[in-house]
Amino acid sequence: MRGKKNGFMDNRTFTMIKPDAFAKGYSGAIIDKIIQAGFKIVALKMTKLSAEKAGEFYAIHKARPFFQELVDFMSSGPIVAAILEKDNAVADFRTLIGATDPAKAAEGTIRKLYAASVGENAIHGSDSDDNEKIESDFFFSVLERF
Ligand code: GDP
Repeated sequence: MRGKKNGFMDNRTFTMIKPDAFAKGYSGAIIDKIIQAGFKIVALKMTKLSAEKAGEFYAIHKARPFFQELVDFMSSGPIVAAILEKDNAVADFRTLIGATDPAKAAEGTIRKLYAASVGENAIHGSDSDDNEKIESDFFFSVLERF
């Protein structure tokens, strides 16, 4: 049994290194920072979202004015997707990546270090245990998790 509440999900989070950070060659440094912060990688892949898949992943933002921009950006190049394990993974990872807008992100956070703007903000982190499950299932089969 892992985790506390339901014995399974609350010690995992899902992340993507977004196309901006990937294109700038930051993937290695970001993965290193994630590991140094105490997260264990339990799934990892490099892939590229189609516009359709990006729209599906961010469907919750469909009504937002930036939705098309977000879909275009997220399907513009390769990404690195991963599932990470650590106690309190979702909240601790949100702290590690920093605020959505890098201008507002705390010093030393991944977005402060590697992101350029609120749209092109280097990295994704699940915002809840429920979304971690949905997002991890979107990218990884059971055979790809360790
Ligand atoms: P997150 O949970 O910190 O990733 O932030 P949100 O769930 O609010 O937004 C999801 C993603 O949409 C963000 O990470 C950004 O890539 C993008 N996004 C949010 N706000 C804006 C915006 O004002 N403009 C653009 N272009 N993209 C945005």
